[in-house]
Amino acid sequence: MTTASSSRRKKALATNVRKRARPKKKPDWIMGAIPEDIFSPAHFDPEPKCPEARPVPDLERLRHVVANPAVYEVATAVLPHKLPGTRGCPASYPPYVYLIYICAIAIYDTARSAGATLQDAALWDVVREGVRRHLGDAEADALPDTGPRRYHWTGYQPKMLDVLPQLRDASRDAWIAQALAMGCLSETRPRGSRLRPDRSQVVHGDATVVRPPSDQTEETTRDEKTGELRRHRVDHDAGLQIEGGDRTVYGKKIVTMALRRAQTPHSRIVLNMDSARHRSPEDDPDREEEASTTLRLAHEILDRAPGVLAFTQDTVWRGKHRAPLIAHGVTVFTRQHDGATPRPLKHYVYRRCNHRIYTATGRACELLPTVDGVSLYNPLPVRDDPVREGKKSFRFYHDVEIPCPHGPHRELIPVYETREDRELDPRTRRPRFNRTEHIRQIPPLTDYGRRLLGFRQDSESHHSNLDYTHRDKRVPAYGTDGALLLCLGHAWVTNSIALGTAHERPH
Ligand SMILES: [Zn+2]
Repeated sequence: MTTASSSRRKKALATNVRKRARPKKKPDWIMGAIPEDIFSPAHFDPEPKCPEARPVPDLERLRHVVANPAVYEVATAVLPHKLPGTRGCPASYPPYVYLIYICAIAIYDTARSAGATLQDAALWDVVREGVRRHLGDAEADALPDTGPRRYHWTGYQPKMLDVLPQLRDASRDAWIAQALAMGCLSETRPRGSRLRPDRSQVVHGDATVVRPPSDQTEETTRDEKTGELRRHRVDHDAGLQIEGGDRTVYGKKIVTMALRRAQTPHSRIVLNMDSARHRSPEDDPDREEEASTTLRLAHEILDRAPGVLAFTQDTVWRGKHRAPLIAHGVTVFTRQHDGATPRPLKHYVYRRCNHRIYTATGRACELLPTVDGVSLYNPLPVRDDPVREGKKSFRFYHDVEIPCPHGPHRELIPVYETREDRELDPRTRRPRFNRTEHIRQIPPLTDYGRRLLGFRQDSESHHSNLDYTHRDKRVPAYGTDGALLLCLGHAWVTNSIALGTAHERPH
């Protein structure tokens, strides 16, 4: 009796669940099994797991920052010297102290606690010793007895914002130089293959939404009880953003490109960073959208480090963004866009047979007739991935095998954007084929594709690190420029840790 009633209840629950669940549209196409080929070899070794990173205490973080010679070089080259006797600033600090200050904000959570911490004599001695090592006794002895307070920082911050583009450029150049000096992006040392590039040759890009200090969107509100008018500070650059494809977050978007060395904790080096537009071009004509910003950042890296083998990026990069980088000779790996449907690629007609080839899930497939009106796309095994270097650009191909009862056929399929692809179709007046959208140098649903997809986890952990560095996931700065400035500080800390712990053996 009990059993019967409980089974009825379960059945009722199951029906409810079914009712509530969104009805799934039955796909009218399916994929065949992924074949064993150059992308999914028989003896594929997955990437070994990175050993767990030891926690780095705050004081050690600061030590790594003041030990990084590039901090002094970039600050001295770019940041304005504060003139003596400026109102509201009794003690004068050299510009590099303020670059260290924005790093201290990343380490100690807020501008206030950074200022308070730098008042500690023992801690300020850590900074002075760093200065002594890099700039000599005279410079270190000339520093005031304690570090800058918050009001020093708030007085100097507008000067940093005035030269923010120069600070961003100089930081990027110093970070890329650091990566090269540490053996990453090298053109000479063993760096893996195109199919399996070494970890240190793969640059991953990602965007994060930085929350403003407050979510206030009204400059004034009226207290319902007292009728009193209250003024609020509003971050006019913040807006509702989509993060991670589905989460809505209120804030400003910062895009980052970074890499790390294989199996080396704390080896992440941020290479480039900028803010991206999220508001409409009418409201904000100077800002670029996320995809074009990350593309610009990628080209800036390539110009300075031609040894980049591959870029990985989330789905924000579509075919038109990938095409120029592929022409540049690099592998671009992104997940396949969810809405991508099979497209006809070529109809091969031979003497005794013919084969209809389509693209699906980022690779060439043969369309096979099936029952029930469901199309089956059978992935063609790729036997080779030849690359031809032309005068102006690189051409990548998949050498595919088309299985056939008359014996297999071999065909070379371009996976770069060809001249014919770009020609306008007279009927649609659009380019004939968005090839780099539909066919991938390394298809995502393969062993090598999954390996590269795994690299993306690291960029996400960099960003969650940025979120949790600051209280309540808020970066304490109003405006996109203010947020970018503090994100640059955070990247300087990350890179200084990579530099300072490089000699440590993984444990
Ligand atoms: Zn055939």
